[in-house]
Amino acid sequence: MKFDRLRLSGFKSFVEPAELEIRDGLTGIVGPNGCGKSNLLEALRWVMGESSARSLRSAAGGGMDDVIFAGTARRASRDLAEVRLVLDNRGNRAAVGFSHEERLEVARAIRRGDGSTYSINGREVRLKDVQLLFADAATSAHSPALVSQGRVAAIINARPQERRQLLEEAAGIAGLNVRRREAETRLRAADANLLRLTYIMKAAETQANGLRRQARAAARYRDLSTHIHELEGSLARLHWQAALVAAQGAERALLGAEADLAERGREAEGAATAQAAAAAALPALRQDEALAATATQKLATECATVKAQRQAVERRLADLGAAIAQATADADRERARAHDSEATQTRLRAELAA
Ligand code: ATP
Repeated sequence: MKFDRLRLSGFKSFVEPAELEIRDGLTGIVGPNGCGKSNLLEALRWVMGESSARSLRSAAGGGMDDVIFAGTARRASRDLAEVRLVLDNRGNRAAVGFSHEERLEVARAIRRGDGSTYSINGREVRLKDVQLLFADAATSAHSPALVSQGRVAAIINARPQERRQLLEEAAGIAGLNVRRREAETRLRAADANLLRLTYIMKAAETQANGLRRQARAAARYRDLSTHIHELEGSLARLHWQAALVAAQGAERALLGAEADLAERGREAEGAATAQAAAAAALPALRQDEALAATATQKLATECATVKAQRQAVERRLADLGAAIAQATADADRERARAHDSEATQTRLRAELAA
């Protein structure tokens, strides 16, 4: 597997699409300080799956987004950076899945705030797949073969662990190591999963017991519901029968009421006729009433006069009574006097005779 060309767009200082062709033999890049030579090596490491922003000289503190062209005094910043590495795989040395491809194009893109995406020959893949592809080819983003500024001294002073990486890469077993580490990670994850599964099973058992209890309660509830439904049905039937009887009674009452109403209608008609006749007779009666009222008035006046006359007569009678009593008393007194005179006469005659 051979690196063929590197294409950059929006990556660090490479705002315009740029392409670096890597030919057989030695390819050199020449330019003044700060023209972007180191950025090319970083682009190479970045597309190979570098995940440390610091090791890519990210200075602005924006993490991996700092690899996106940040703009200059004359050019606006970009939101997207992309690096593509074209590999010649004619020896079919790429890992399983890509071994039949003669040409591989590994691409990494980053959108500001969205993180990176990876693809191989246009097919989206995971970071791990990209790292494994290069590990199988005995290289990686951290390969000691990628010697950036100051790295030579670092390799000379490397710790045994870092030297081991150098030797492993030279021996071409870096891919196996990556796989071994991956397998160990998977085993650990499987162990953790098993443990979690045990807890989950215990929880599920407890849950199942609870559910069984709930199922029993639900069955009992269902039986009771059925019974309640049956009873409600019977009750409804009884209500219906009672309502039927009541409806029949109401129907009979309605017929009676209708007959009654007809009778009342007829009576109302008779009453209306009588009322009409009475209304017709009313003017004459009113006239009679007025006449009677006048006569009554007149009679009342006459009655008052008669009453006054009677009182005068009664007073006269009383006077006459008193006069009669007086006369009677006078007559009695005169008779008494006459009697006395006769007695005196009789006595005097007797005396005279004597
Ligand atoms: P030297 O030989 O001094 O090491 P060099 O040629 O390797 O220089 P680099 O260090 O690769 O150059 O490039 C540095 C240049 O890249 C600087 O001008 C810097 O402003 C520019 N640069 C780095 N990151 C970005 C970015 N995100 N956006 C725009 N320009 C960037």
